[in-house]
Parts: sequence; structure tokens; C-alpha cells
Amino acid sequence: MTRREKKAKGEGRPEELGVITTLSVPVVGSVGKTGSWRVFMPVKDESRCNKCLICWIYCPEACISKDIEIDLDYCKGCGICAVECPRRAITMVKEEKSTGGAG
Ligand code: SF4
Ligand code: SF4
Repeated sequence: MTRREKKAKGEGRPEELGVITTLSVPVVGSVGKTGSWRVFMPVKDESRCNKCLICWIYCPEACISKDIEIDLDYCKGCGICAVECPRRAITMVKEEKSTGGAG
């Protein structure tokens, strides 16, 4: 049976039929606030950034704004933004964690 015949009969998997049934749209903090367990954090070099928005597109947590501000409450430190940035404007640096003690 051809794809067209399957479609006419309402059969076949969506991807076989060329039908998009769902769209995945990330929302800020899909895994919750991550600041407490993130190991690496992204640091942007303003002088290198040309606002191309590639990091904004790729960030799986949607925690980079269109002004290229990174919301560290929700960044999980995956480093995708740093890898995808064509201008190497983002560097992943190890977090300095507070031990919770005084000072
Ligand atoms: S991908 Fe890099 S150059 Fe492009 S907006 Fe993001 S930080 Fe800036
Ligand atoms: S490291 Fe970059 S891509 Fe990953 S969650 Fe943080 S801002 Fe988004």
C-alpha cells in the first residue's frame, strides 16, 4: 500500500504520513531550578558576542533571553550554548560553591 493510500485510509505512523502531531517547545526551567546542582556555568564574553541568537535557539532550557542574558537559576550547565556559539563567546567555568558556612 502506498503512503497516499495509507493516508487516505487514516493508517500508518505519523512520520510515515508526513504529519507533525506534536511540537516540543522548551519552557524556562523544564527541570526546575538548577543553580544548586550545576557543576559548570556559562560565562559570556560581551566583546565577542554578535547577538546571532544561536545560543538562544539551542539552549534546551530556554534560559537564554533574546538579549543573550543567561538565567542561571535555570541553566543546568550542559554547555551546549558554548559548543554551538560560532564566535566562542561563551566559556564554561567551574562553579564556586558555597559550603553554607559563615563568610
Ligand atoms: S551564539 Fe555566541 S555570538 Fe551568538 S548570540 Fe550566543 S553568545 Fe552571542
Ligand atoms: S549551559 Fe547554556 S545551553 Fe546549557 S542550559 Fe545553560 S545556558 Fe542553556
